[in-house]
Amino acid sequence: MSMIHEVELNTEGLPQVVMKPIPTPEKPAFNLVSRESHAEDSIIDVGGVRIGGREFAVIAGPCSVEDEESLMTTALSVRDAGGSMMRGGAFKPRTSPYSFQGLGETGLKLLSRAKDVTGLPVVTEVMDAGEIDLVGGYADMLQIGSRNSQNFSLLKSLGRVDKPILLKRGLMTTIDEFLNSAEYILAAGNPRVVLCERGIRTFETATRNTLDLSAVPILKERTHLPVIVDPSHAVGDNRYVCPLAKAALAVGADGLMVEVHAHPEQAKCDGKQSLDPETFRRLMEELSTMAVHFGRSVKVASPSPR
Ligand code: PEP
Ligand code: MN
Repeated sequence: MSMIHEVELNTEGLPQVVMKPIPTPEKPAFNLVSRESHAEDSIIDVGGVRIGGREFAVIAGPCSVEDEESLMTTALSVRDAGGSMMRGGAFKPRTSPYSFQGLGETGLKLLSRAKDVTGLPVVTEVMDAGEIDLVGGYADMLQIGSRNSQNFSLLKSLGRVDKPILLKRGLMTTIDEFLNSAEYILAAGNPRVVLCERGIRTFETATRNTLDLSAVPILKERTHLPVIVDPSHAVGDNRYVCPLAKAALAVGADGLMVEVHAHPEQAKCDGKQSLDPETFRRLMEELSTMAVHFGRSVKVASPSPR
């Protein structure tokens, strides 16, 4: 048992040093997600892509699905650069009710067409429990966005879903709160959860959010669930996305989620933080070179004829 020195007053009122056992910390509230309950890393299979293993999984695509042409161009560039999965929002959580809200089911259909063309599994956001069956009918993985990270009734309703979940960290949630959000999903019956660090809100205004890279090794220590990093929403500016993506690999993340758009300057949403296809291709090559030093691998697909 570990001991600690404490100063106490003796019967004569004089200080004396005594040794006391360190009190055992309270049992963590999260059980199913904890390393204690499951020592090995969990590997989550998403339509044949394994997240959490040796291979560093890269999910990429536009912030929102906009139209067939730009989605297909982006999807093919993601596949050709070696991306593991496609992303794209059809139901968009926007700060302003007057901003583009996504194409809804039309967007889901386009995503599923992009999957047919590229062979890449797709992840897309669910904002409301009433959308789960609809979105689940098209997507390989359901994303819970930052704003819903502590929507406990939505998290509970994911328990009955036979799809893996990508759970993003809330804008203001601590690591413990984030783990408890994942615990809600596991406790409700769905063990297939991937965590995504996407930046937290701080006093800093030079970036959109502050990427909490320290959360990655802490989460990897406390939970067996895979942890990926979204540098795009964290930093909010495509000039800084690549260095942070590489940092994510270096601190032990299991993968990335990166926004890529065929023409970022024309994007309806988050163009400023989206990489163009050529920058994304270069990033993948750099990650692939780096990965070797960390005992990891990054797929860099050779361009296939279209
Ligand atoms: C997104 O990934 O599309 C998104 C809206 O991100 P976040 O929920 O992290 O803000
Ligand atoms: Mn976005």
